Amino acid sequence: MKQCIICRKFKEAFSDEHVIPDALGGYYHIYSVCTQCNSRMGSTVDVKLVNHKFSEFQRFTLGLKGKSKKLPNPFIGIHRIDGEESRRVQLRIDGDGKLVPYVVPTVEYEKLDDGTRVSICVDASDKNKLSGILDGVAKKLKVPLEQLKLPEQAVRSIARPNIQGGFSIDLFEFKIGLLKIAYEFAVDTIPEYFHDDAAVEIAEILFHADHSRVEKYVNIGSGFERNLFSSLEKYLDIAKKKHFLVLCSHRAGGLSCLMHLHQLFAVGVSLSKKMYPDHLFVVGVNDIEKKSFRKIFGEELSREVYGVPFLRFQYYFENEAALMRFQELQMSEHFEVIQVKGEIPVFDKSGNALETTLNEKMNAVAPLAKSEFLSEKEFICTYNFAEDVFVKVNPGGELVQVTAVREEYVNVSKI
Ligand SMILES: [Zn+2]
Repeated sequence: MKQCIICRKFKEAFSDEHVIPDALGGYYHIYSVCTQCNSRMGSTVDVKLVNHKFSEFQRFTLGLKGKSKKLPNPFIGIHRIDGEESRRVQLRIDGDGKLVPYVVPTVEYEKLDDGTRVSICVDASDKNKLSGILDGVAKKLKVPLEQLKLPEQAVRSIARPNIQGGFSIDLFEFKIGLLKIAYEFAVDTIPEYFHDDAAVEIAEILFHADHSRVEKYVNIGSGFERNLFSSLEKYLDIAKKKHFLVLCSHRAGGLSCLMHLHQLFAVGVSLSKKMYPDHLFVVGVNDIEKKSFRKIFGEELSREVYGVPFLRFQYYFENEAALMRFQELQMSEHFEVIQVKGEIPVFDKSGNALETTLNEKMNAVAPLAKSEFLSEKEFICTYNFAEDVFVKVNPGGELVQVTAVREEYVNVSKI
């Protein structure tokens, strides 16, 4: 027996829960939702996301078939062709997943002195149904078939039909689907969050599909604001076919989850006012093409994005003679900045070792560091030191003053 994270009861039977609905290309599975809640979530919560007009468009363009093994048709309904007001058109999906316009059959009558003129308009694919339609018309008019006057058949094709129609877009109910994703991601990542008062309320909202309380939590952005991710774009490749979930905890805002579902929704969920491990930063990456999901934690993320930097130093010399001597050292094949256990120790002017390392000095001035992308893949960050910082270089263990360090990342690759 374990506790279900939705109904919060102790249950025997659990099943595979897709945190992001599989119809949207979700590959994040958890096993902490009971079988009953799982199907309940599918029919009352996930459905709002999956059947959203935006999702239907995307599933159609990405060819995501979902449970029914059918592509959704976001263009379902009756449309019109520009300039042909009497024609009604449907957009159908053929076997190859292509959209095909289909003219809905129409029959028009005109009473003449010597009978009734009938004009029938059908789609070219319905040509073989013409005689059947005509039979029906004769029956309806209660006249023998021979009395119907048919104008000559004409086939017309419109090369680039401009089809007009209307849609209804849900701006509200889909948010419950986003709340579920954020909640499940948080509980799965921070187990103690499950006992948070806010988590208890969110589980209740999801269980009852209570839309009236959803916006209390799904309250960062309207749901469609991609610029919520502008500060994360240097890490995350949001143009790729991926969904991103970003869980972060900070002193000011508590625990929140930003989510970016590829070309669909971008929203932030306030999960708690409480603070969880400070600077907690976890990114969930759902790769639609690779059919995979993984979580990346804080520092791992920047390591993966930037790799190990090459450090370039800016030195200061008191006179030209010192500069010349240093340049000679630099020519030596044994030239190096001295490191101890992978860290560069720093010294004062007299050569006394300081408590800190160069890295710590850089971190201390990090808020004032200047960073820029030289290209898509090249990134540099410059740290200027206001106080005197010395390092030792080989050969000879010479003391030199460093006024700035430039970190060069030459192979930046976004997640
Ligand atoms: Zn349950």
